Amino acid sequence: MNVYRAETIEAVRAALQPRRHQTRIGFVPTMGALHAGHARLIETARRECGCVVVSIFVNPLQFDRADDLARYPRTLDEDLALCDALGVDVAFVPAAGEIYPVEPECTVDIGRLGEHLCGRGRPGHFRGVATVVLKLFAIVGPDTAYFGEKDAQQLAIVRRLVADFNLPISIAGVPTVREPDGLALSSRNRRLDACGRRQAVSLYAALQHARASIARGATDPHTIAAEAAAVIPGGENLRLEYLELVDPNTMQPVPRVDGPVLAAGALWVGDTRLIDNVMCDPARAGG
Ligand code: AMP
Repeated sequence: MNVYRAETIEAVRAALQPRRHQTRIGFVPTMGALHAGHARLIETARRECGCVVVSIFVNPLQFDRADDLARYPRTLDEDLALCDALGVDVAFVPAAGEIYPVEPECTVDIGRLGEHLCGRGRPGHFRGVATVVLKLFAIVGPDTAYFGEKDAQQLAIVRRLVADFNLPISIAGVPTVREPDGLALSSRNRRLDACGRRQAVSLYAALQHARASIARGATDPHTIAAEAAAVIPGGENLRLEYLELVDPNTMQPVPRVDGPVLAAGALWVGDTRLIDNVMCDPARAGG
């Protein structure tokens, strides 16, 4: 394998030191169980940067449920092989104790950005995300960091983190990679059985319904969201946690759709929680 596996902060800094200021350092933070969505981020970084760093770290601080953390898929050998195949220079694979030798006293307050969508149902989640992202940025010191639009609230928070703390890092958003039927790729999809997999696509179908309503001129967010939610079939295996229309930057609900909005949802399929979102633009014919 050509990819260099760094397990300590010291090792990753030492590996990057000779490359710093010689070439662009591109950084892709992940929690592993890599799939084609992560690959798209890595490929984009590979095209744009002379040195590519991928972190694989299941961040305990962002899990609100211990069982979800315990059950999060871990496929390190395959992940490293994929990084190698995609030409990643450095894979940063720290143990939890390397990142959190002690419980952090200082964490990032993400303000109102966490009031809605996933922030409402997962208290402390985005504080954990923003804190680990800030730590990883301080460890890696990238020129550009790559994040998926699939996690739109996370992307909006990272953009504000960089702006509000004047971090000299540019943030690149990468479009969501989907299965042929529209299901957004996610590490959690591996937990779905055949029936759950068939049901899971209904979240995307509901979001597309909202998008189509907006393209046809609908403006009342509550009606649009309610009609979209009705696309999800009833049944005890499926539970819609939320489907909301929010401002794409502030992540606040819009009182009326009169510009681009993000339609975002979270769907429980059995005990697996899936999220997705689509941008909706009333000015664009056909959505
Ligand atoms: P995760 O490992 O789930 O924390 O994701 C790591 C990065 O990959 C995040 O920036 C995600 O938004 C991104 N990502 C996850 N799934 C996809 C996907 N289907 N398409 C594009 N990016 C994705």
